[in-house]
Amino acid sequence: MIKAIIKRNRKQKRIAIKTIAAVLMLIITVLFIVSCENDVYTKVVEETFAMDTIITYTLYGKNQTEAVSRINAEVVRLENMLSVTNEQSEISKINSANGVAQNVSDKIIGIITAAQKISEASDGAFDITVYPLVKLWGFTTDKTAVPDKERINDTMLTVNYENIVVDEKNNTVMLPKDYMLDLGGIAKGYTGEVIAQIIKGNEDITGAVVSLGGNVQTVGSKEDGSDWTVAVEHPDGGAFGMLKVGETSVITSGGYQRNFEQDGKVYHHIIDPKTGYPAESDILSAVIVCEDGAKGDALSTASFILGYKKAADLHKSIGGYDFVFLLDDGRVIISENLKQKFSKTDKYDNLEIIVE
Ligand code: AMP
Ligand code: MG
Repeated sequence: MIKAIIKRNRKQKRIAIKTIAAVLMLIITVLFIVSCENDVYTKVVEETFAMDTIITYTLYGKNQTEAVSRINAEVVRLENMLSVTNEQSEISKINSANGVAQNVSDKIIGIITAAQKISEASDGAFDITVYPLVKLWGFTTDKTAVPDKERINDTMLTVNYENIVVDEKNNTVMLPKDYMLDLGGIAKGYTGEVIAQIIKGNEDITGAVVSLGGNVQTVGSKEDGSDWTVAVEHPDGGAFGMLKVGETSVITSGGYQRNFEQDGKVYHHIIDPKTGYPAESDILSAVIVCEDGAKGDALSTASFILGYKKAADLHKSIGGYDFVFLLDDGRVIISENLKQKFSKTDKYDNLEIIVE
């Protein structure tokens, strides 16, 4: 009887040891596979929703996990800093200050001064004080409707980038009473640029493509060292062209991106500060290729508002970027440098290309 119990205990012990050994082997094998996978050149695609848009980023290289969590954290931080609808954001702090100067971060000062440069160059077409008008038209709440002409005229009195007072020494920004900032025309380009910096600082990542609601930021090059191919979107939905680019941003503005219809007329979200109404433009889609993402973003909005001729003049006067303008008459105007880089897709082969 006693012998039988001892025998059974030994048997149970052996089974326990075997089980523990098997579990340990399994853990070691899993760890080995994971570590091998991390060392292999792979493509990781991540998606997150922020700034009212889907942000997709594709990272080529190895050990992408750290970059993914840093990018996601940075996107949340930027949204909390730049969003007009987040009451805690630095922009909301400036907007609700009732004429009192507010202390803000270097980054906010940097974005506002970058925006002001494009406002000056575009003769006020790009103007981040446009928020009272954007709000009046209902674009932030999606309760969109054509406002009374009188209210538009009144609201226009609180829109003028020249009245933003930036004190770079003391890091303060002051707006006159009833003025409000909206960084919607520059924030995505800026965010793409910040994400690119994180990726560039990670030596395991050899290349990346970041898309923020169709605005593209590229980093590095493809695995074989060749250029990236970025599709250029037609308002109809498909791509009308392809662009070959190195490390840069490709930013698109168009009235087709957000709009509403009232009494058979379409009203879009890009407001001409000179009229208080959605910009009447001969450009359907303004695409800017620029190494500086924030500048490219501001320029895409400005070019759309200005229309073909004035936008081409703006390009001549400040330079440092390239453009593709799809016009409402079916012509595509491209800047000289893109001659070898831009090609039409088969579906839109009828479009006439003009090199400016
Ligand atoms: P984007 O898609 O970059 O052209 O930016 C459009 C967004 O910029 C709008 O949704 C508004 O938030 C804001 N916006 C509208 N009109 C202007 C303007 N004239 N200048 C600067 N930002 C504007
Ligand atoms: Mg823009």
